[in-house]
Amino acid sequence: MQIVLPPILLPNPKVTACFTTRHGGVSHSPYTTANLAFHVGDALNDVLQNHDLLANVLGYDRRTLVHMSQIHSDTIITIDDTHSFDTPPQCDALITNRTNTPLMVMSADCTPILIYDPIHNAIGAVHAGRKGALNKILPKTLHAMKQAFGTQINDVQIVLGPSIHGCCYEVNENIVNEVIEMGYKDAIRREKERVFLDVNTILLRQLQTLGVKEESIEVINHCTSCNCDTYFSYRADAQHTGRIAGVIILRSA
Ligand SMILES: [Zn+2]
Repeated sequence: MQIVLPPILLPNPKVTACFTTRHGGVSHSPYTTANLAFHVGDALNDVLQNHDLLANVLGYDRRTLVHMSQIHSDTIITIDDTHSFDTPPQCDALITNRTNTPLMVMSADCTPILIYDPIHNAIGAVHAGRKGALNKILPKTLHAMKQAFGTQINDVQIVLGPSIHGCCYEVNENIVNEVIEMGYKDAIRREKERVFLDVNTILLRQLQTLGVKEESIEVINHCTSCNCDTYFSYRADAQHTGRIAGVIILRSA
């Protein structure tokens, strides 16, 4: 399983964070090869085997991982005893202060976001596409972490993982109008008759508005569509594709 490690969270014995690529798994086309999503039509046993390969690389028991049934919402779930690998909650963000409970967000163009609060030992995993970003899922998750664990904006480290960027994410005028109405004109790029949206610009502005320190934010600067040989891309792969994942784990070390 080939993974990408975000330098901002390295080296750190108390937390492990990574993003997967499409390489190093066992799935067949069009899920070649490291698809981690169960809902995309891939063979169940192949997906389970990919999860086991990743768990092996990162050093956790696959059954302790919580992933999500993602619905482009602003629903945030705090992990409790009811959550397990086999019962992913319907939501787009997970938060916890439990050690050895890996959180996973899956994506293929949307932005997978990992959050670490080293002061209160808390983590979050967020799925933010256009809808989630406009619904402020990221600021809402940070607020939920404050409510649940006392997380302060000054303390968090945040990584925006591989996602489709403004070079490739073409949108229609309805979306453009919505984005401009919400005050994110600088996320729009026009190129002759075509219009492109950069979701990360929206997310970064929201973090800036909250006062998250610039040095505490890392953006993995890989566009999934430009780099669809490395990552799954819903758009570049014409919708029939797998999902990469962002994973974050608090260690009990
Ligand atoms: Zn691109």
